[in-house]
Amino acid sequence: MSPGEILLRAHFADAFRQITKKPDSPEIHVSFYPFAGLNHTIRIRKQRVYVRVSDIMRDAPTSVHRALAFILVAKLFNKRVGVEHQNLYRQYAYLPQVQRATDLARQQRGRKQLTGAVGGYYNLDRMFAKLNRRYFDNELPLPALSWSARRTKRILGHHDYVHEAIVISRSLDSSDVPEFLVEFVLYHEMLHMKHRPRVQNGRRVYHTAAFRADERRFEWYEQAMDELDRLSSRK
Ligand SMILES: [Zn+2]
Repeated sequence: MSPGEILLRAHFADAFRQITKKPDSPEIHVSFYPFAGLNHTIRIRKQRVYVRVSDIMRDAPTSVHRALAFILVAKLFNKRVGVEHQNLYRQYAYLPQVQRATDLARQQRGRKQLTGAVGGYYNLDRMFAKLNRRYFDNELPLPALSWSARRTKRILGHHDYVHEAIVISRSLDSSDVPEFLVEFVLYHEMLHMKHRPRVQNGRRVYHTAAFRADERRFEWYEQAMDELDRLSSRK
């Protein structure tokens, strides 16, 4: 977490205390995120609060960060947003340099927009929660989880270290695909959150021995391997 994120988290903690009128704030995770625009998200899962603030706002004045914290927390509780916060934020959003950065983000990132965790058949959010409980003592923070836009067959899953995002191929979101296989692909990507890449002999190693050992802890490991073999040999 960067100093900017720590400061931002303090604003959110303040906003929680003031808006809920309680002396304590919940556990809050705040990060800057490369949304395709000046967008922000806030959600509660298991009494923890996850906030993503557009990285466009990274260098915004602290008063604007504070205003945004009050706006997002008020929205979370369906409370009215204070006028002074609203005005501060709007003035900032309409600054020419901010508008330019927003347009640029839309152009450059728009196509890569994630399509969401709820598929037609499987729900990645729910699956993540189950695997996190079972294999990680609930210690992994919730990443941006999404099905891929296209039904990629060769790449079934991907973990993005920079954006802390996991994308699973939409080709797995089907009644023809056993649940343990989707879970295994997601589990593999979750292991990438736990095992950071190592540099060995000048090369970045993603699947270390410890990673592979953890991978074999998956309850349906053998079945998943067989299924992956079948998938890759199918034309
Ligand atoms: Zn991998």
